[in-house]
Amino acid sequence: MELKMCGQPWFEMQIEYSEKVGCCCYYKFGKDSLNTPLDVDRYWNGNKIKEIRKTISSNNAEGTGCDGCQYIKYSSVSNFVSMPDNLNPIQSDNWSRALNNYHDKRITVDSYPVKYYMNFGLACNLKCIMCCQAESRKVDKRQLPVEPLLELKPFFIKANEIAIIGGEPLMIPDARKFIDAIIHDPDYSDVKLSIFTNGTLLHKYIEPFRNMKRIGICISLDSIGNAYEYIRQGAKWEDTENNIIEFKETGKQLGHSWDVNIAAIVMKSSIPLMDDFVEWCIAHDTPVHFVPLNEENFTGDEDVFRNPVLLNNIPAWEDILDSAINKLEKRGWTAGGANSLKLIKKELVSRLLNYKGEELFNSGDIEGSFTLFAKSVESDPAFVTAFNNMGVVCWQSGDRKGAIKHFLKALKNNPYNRDTVMNCGRILVNIDQHEDARKLYKSYLTLHPDDNEIRGLYTEIEEIECVT
Ligand code: SF4
Ligand code: SF4
Repeated sequence: MELKMCGQPWFEMQIEYSEKVGCCCYYKFGKDSLNTPLDVDRYWNGNKIKEIRKTISSNNAEGTGCDGCQYIKYSSVSNFVSMPDNLNPIQSDNWSRALNNYHDKRITVDSYPVKYYMNFGLACNLKCIMCCQAESRKVDKRQLPVEPLLELKPFFIKANEIAIIGGEPLMIPDARKFIDAIIHDPDYSDVKLSIFTNGTLLHKYIEPFRNMKRIGICISLDSIGNAYEYIRQGAKWEDTENNIIEFKETGKQLGHSWDVNIAAIVMKSSIPLMDDFVEWCIAHDTPVHFVPLNEENFTGDEDVFRNPVLLNNIPAWEDILDSAINKLEKRGWTAGGANSLKLIKKELVSRLLNYKGEELFNSGDIEGSFTLFAKSVESDPAFVTAFNNMGVVCWQSGDRKGAIKHFLKALKNNPYNRDTVMNCGRILVNIDQHEDARKLYKSYLTLHPDDNEIRGLYTEIEEIECVT
């Protein structure tokens, strides 16, 4: 994995309602605690963030919190490498310093974040079918408190962007107070305000936003019409569509840089109308980027990645995605658009092949299953499950060397995949390579210290080594 492109710990600070401070949503290890008053200096050159800078500078994610990072998987370039030309001198000086620190891979920096990203809490006015926050929302009522944040104004006005997310930020009281403070304070007029929203309440803010020259609205939208209303339960397509159009038109009339972009989730119910959805995005000039629905971020029975058999109920799903990809390419929306959708399609093809391979395996057609597993990794060379299955087939056929080869390929893509760690560990013990098995379990336990079964296997080896 090419980590070097990641600029997050040099450019972005994320502050969460859960009282954590970090630089991205993907880091697996612990984040700093949010102490109030928040000391930006102490955090920005603190041990945790310096550790992340060291990891990225070393370009080796193995065993670190960056291991398996989805951001790196779906992006090819840091969002921060080109500096906008509409910054004021203070913002521009800060961004130039941040760029120097990033390019020189400095661990201690003399710049401040160019972007602050603040998650205000989980409250939302919708009940989307795949929302992973639904259960936590019932019990976790915390909000990021607005008062300490307003104290950070001297830092915020050096930044290019302040991004606000929830839940639905336009209905979270402290997020609304924060937005109100910014849009009514001329000192913030050069800062870009970004809001991640479901767009249903946007109409209430179009008028109050007038003083802000730069606004970016990222709308969660995965389909149009009835499919949209089925996915985003509680929302009306006509209203959301009107909000987007009105926001864009008002920005244009005011001569402001008000942009809308779309964050779309690829899932069972968004695939059938994907082509029409892309056409809509193009017709309304709202660039779209795609993310897969996966178990880490979403829930529900919409997950065509874990349950690829669901794809069998979507007629011509591959053609639909191909057509959408073609349209995105023609429009020139490649990075997060066409390229992400291509990657996602390959992953889906791969998972379906693997599923069919598992069916063959269960029916006793071992050779046929191996062929499908091999095709699966041809389509997605990072698909751990198919490599693991190839290892299992080799193992069952008595080919221990082949089994280890495939298990190692699986582990290269994800050293923490439990099935593969178990399988590979067992076979290593079986051929008396105890030290390698011990290292494998030990590395896994750094991320999953509570896995008693693997801890037991690790302890068994340690005991064998003590005896010998
Ligand atoms: S987890 Fe990913 S996005 Fe976060 S700092 Fe590491 S490489 Fe960058
Ligand atoms: S808009 Fe976002 S936060 Fe709200 S229910 Fe839908 S997925 Fe969840």
